Amino acid sequence: MALTLKSKKSAEQLDHGRLTSLINSMADAVIAVDDKHKVVVYNGAALDILDVNNIRAGTGIDKLIYPIDSENQPVPICDLVSAATHPTTNRDLRLKYKDGSTINLYLSIAPVHLGYGEAGQQGYVLLLRDITREKSLEEERDEFISVVSHELRTPIAIAEGNIGNAEFIAGKTGDIKAIQAALKEAHHQVLFLADMINDLATLSRAERGVLEIEPEGINVHDLLTELQSNYTPQAAAKNLTFKLELDPKLELLQSSKLYVREVLQNFITNAIKYTQRGGVTLSAKTSPKGVTFYVTDTGIGLSKPDQEKVFDKFFRSEDFRTRETGGTGLGLYVTAKLARLLHAEINLESQLNHGSTFSIFIPNLQ
Ligand code: ADP
Repeated sequence: MALTLKSKKSAEQLDHGRLTSLINSMADAVIAVDDKHKVVVYNGAALDILDVNNIRAGTGIDKLIYPIDSENQPVPICDLVSAATHPTTNRDLRLKYKDGSTINLYLSIAPVHLGYGEAGQQGYVLLLRDITREKSLEEERDEFISVVSHELRTPIAIAEGNIGNAEFIAGKTGDIKAIQAALKEAHHQVLFLADMINDLATLSRAERGVLEIEPEGINVHDLLTELQSNYTPQAAAKNLTFKLELDPKLELLQSSKLYVREVLQNFITNAIKYTQRGGVTLSAKTSPKGVTFYVTDTGIGLSKPDQEKVFDKFFRSEDFRTRETGGTGLGLYVTAKLARLLHAEINLESQLNHGSTFSIFIPNLQ
């Protein structure tokens, strides 16, 4: 039986009411526009994300939504809508507000039939979500992967070289002592890798603010002697000296041995890497509150503008001598993060073409 005009209308009103309460219950912003890109329906979440108090029916969508791309260039929303011949989603845009602030935007656009009846008017439904936090977590994850690969490369290369060497000797002379020495070094590097992985995981936790350092008594004298013996061969391979100047008053330092060692290793590796002539000196001075470590080199040095940027993520000097060496510009960034965890203070004194001193004051932690 055909519906009377009145009952048909009230059924439509009921449907409309249901639809309105449905879209208003959604956490995502929903905006329906007609074929001229004018707003027909929207929900409360749309007001929130667009930061407006109300939207007049019939307002053009281009007066409400100002997306920009990764290069801060405006992307006309009407063009995006017209291009949506089938449902599309985009996670790479940002939404720009009148005050200039931005958020990362998830935007889905679906062509639909709005209205009722067979010849329902053509339109589009836009769904918007603030994904700023998700995006920053994604970036953090990408950065973490870069840090891991940078920091793990050297020990893996040394372990791999030694295992290859052991294999070679076994096939040639069979010299057990030489094989043992190579395997011992490889083993040492694998243990170091285990420490390092631990450390990087800790670093990632630290960035989310859930780290607790358990200070232990570090014998500074032993730590520096160990570092000297580890790095002297690397320096000697470049005809550089590696000197140790020890303060006879050095006592135990209460801090994280793993992190202190890692910070110093980063300074030492750089000192050797960026020095062509002369050498590296490692020293430490004690004070009632902690210990200051110094890594001095007679290397290429850093210009004043570069000194300001060395601790930035991915920074590498444009100096050709830097570019001749490998590196990703993450070592000192990680070092600065570790220093913050240790409540330590880093200082850099450098003169282009004359050398650098990276020093770090590490306080005793309770
Ligand atoms: P990487 O050594 O992998 O490039 P780092 O974060 O350890 O990354 O260092 C960042 C940059 O700082 C280096 O590329 C280099 O330009 C500069 N730098 C670091 N240490 C020294 C040093 N001892 N002497 C001169 N330049 C240095």
